[in-house]
Amino acid sequence: MFIKEIEFVNFKSFGKKVKIPFYEGFTAISGPNGSGKSNIIDGILFALGLSGSKTMRADKLTDLIFNDAKSKQPDFAQVTITFDNTDRKAPVEADEFEISRKIKQTKDNYYSYYYFNGKAVSLTEVHELLGKAGVTPEGYNVVMQGDISQITAKMSPIERRKIIDEIAGVSEFDEKKQKSLAELDIVKEQIEKIDIIIEEVT
Ligand code: ATP
Repeated sequence: MFIKEIEFVNFKSFGKKVKIPFYEGFTAISGPNGSGKSNIIDGILFALGLSGSKTMRADKLTDLIFNDAKSKQPDFAQVTITFDNTDRKAPVEADEFEISRKIKQTKDNYYSYYYFNGKAVSLTEVHELLGKAGVTPEGYNVVMQGDISQITAKMSPIERRKIIDEIAGVSEFDEKKQKSLAELDIVKEQIEKIDIIIEEVT
């Protein structure tokens, strides 16, 4: 599964509609300082609701709406991410699917909506779907500026190992193993109790 295209409408520096294609494997984006490269990452965090543990560079959600001095500020911003799902990593029976988020500003409030293939869904539903494909807010699917120096220079070997396990998908099995061992302990205790009862009555 990979991101095939991102469409921005009035999102940060992308006024009106801008579509950016991505390719399987490696896509590099280059451009002058301030041209909006990092805004693309902010768009991914925004649309997929991954900003819980990563920081989008905006004080308020409404700062994400395109704003320039020359034109009237639009009242909404929307980012739509199209995934290639030909490998069926996500539990969707289609070669591609879309996740989209829109923020709409009214006079004294703002509203945020998520969509799956154009149908309104909750953030939990978005997380459930992406989680099945290994994309989680706490995961390292999006590596932010500063993450690399944090991982290579500041973390202890144990913390680093945890990240490698998580990326390799091992931590899921570790958690299941710990749960099973805890259940096994309870069963052993019950067997011991029953053995004592059997000894007493025989
Ligand atoms: P660098 O190479 O310096 O890191 P960059 O290419 O990553 O730069 P970004 O940080 O993505 O650039 O974009 C910054 C630009 O986005 C600034 O020019 C800023 O004015 C513009 N910008 C941010 N929010 C908005 C907004 N709501 N409306 C219009 N422009 C915005």
